[in-house]
Amino acid sequence: MGTFRAIRIDRTEKGTAAALTQFDEADLMDGDVTVRVEWSTLNYKDGLAVTGKAPVVRRFPMIAGIDFAGTVEQSSHPQWKAGDKVVCNGWGMGETHLGSYAERARVKGEWLVRLPQRISTRDAMAIGTAGYTAMLAVLALEKHGVSPASGPIAVTGAAGGVGSVATAVLSKLGYHVIASTGRMSEASYLKGLGAAEVIDRAELSGPVKPLAKDRWAGGIDSVGSITLANLLSMAQYGGAIAACGLAGGMDLPSSVAPFILRGVCLLGIDSVMCPIPLRKTAWSRLATDLDPTKLSEITHEINLDQVVGEAGKILAGQVRGRIVVKIP
Ligand code: NDP
Repeated sequence: MGTFRAIRIDRTEKGTAAALTQFDEADLMDGDVTVRVEWSTLNYKDGLAVTGKAPVVRRFPMIAGIDFAGTVEQSSHPQWKAGDKVVCNGWGMGETHLGSYAERARVKGEWLVRLPQRISTRDAMAIGTAGYTAMLAVLALEKHGVSPASGPIAVTGAAGGVGSVATAVLSKLGYHVIASTGRMSEASYLKGLGAAEVIDRAELSGPVKPLAKDRWAGGIDSVGSITLANLLSMAQYGGAIAACGLAGGMDLPSSVAPFILRGVCLLGIDSVMCPIPLRKTAWSRLATDLDPTKLSEITHEINLDQVVGEAGKILAGQVRGRIVVKIP
């Protein structure tokens, strides 16, 4: 047993502090599979954990990072053997279980998904939890019966991670995507991903009417609060909004009007405890329904030693698309 590099979060007098350091392999937590982590990523929740802006971390010391892709090194789990390529999202990694900004991770075999052949470990983390969550939202809309023929789909926080992948996937599937962003300077980026229309998020941050003019058959929302309330009030009869984020706030200042007068449905999306069969469906759909060229356009790469510096930027809404983290 040796040591490996990891971003460790410790409790301090002022709150928490994160730093790249050596971590002792003997201190890894229980699990039946040890993985050589090759790539991780920077998600919004990682930003909250690394900066200490929200109480994401519930065990100290913690290795930050909520997702990884890599190669199995050792396994006593019947499903996995050395050399298998795997992806792992959530399950409390980086919160209650030692996380992914590390050269090694030890996890339960039941948490892992085998990577589809068309997805490399790097691409898996370019997609990351944000992109896998975007696909869970697409699957939820489809399950509700929303199709390209139903009408337009609104995507909020469109220039962010969830929003960029949602825009790229929905447009490939033939949907008319209305991308909402606070950064109109990113309009050509969003059009390049396939958005049919780009709107200023100010259109969704004004006072919420119980019912407003109907504009879309569905929506994927990573913002929450007033934005989600406006999305609901502007949904057409029988429409559905998949809610997965809180970048604009955790509240929901809405009314029951969209539900009881237009039969609109609010679909909750959780990636952390999502059951394995649905994860497998999401990853296999990402292999076919996300254009690899678009994925590379939305992704930029950083090293493990840049994560702490970048964490504040994602919370400030300054990150475009996805950040993939190379693990040495
Ligand atoms: P990003 O920071 O990459 O994207 C969020 C986007 O939201 C920003 O780029 C910005 O887009 C927009 N935004 C930011 N702040 C505000 C604001 N105050 N008001 C309105 N819009 C705002 O984060 P991710 O895409 O990684 O995650 C998005 C959300 O989804 C987060 O809240 C995250 O916690 C959540 N999430 C939830 C998961 C789940 O399991 N339910 C899994 C993954 C993520 P623009 O500039 O285009 O307006």
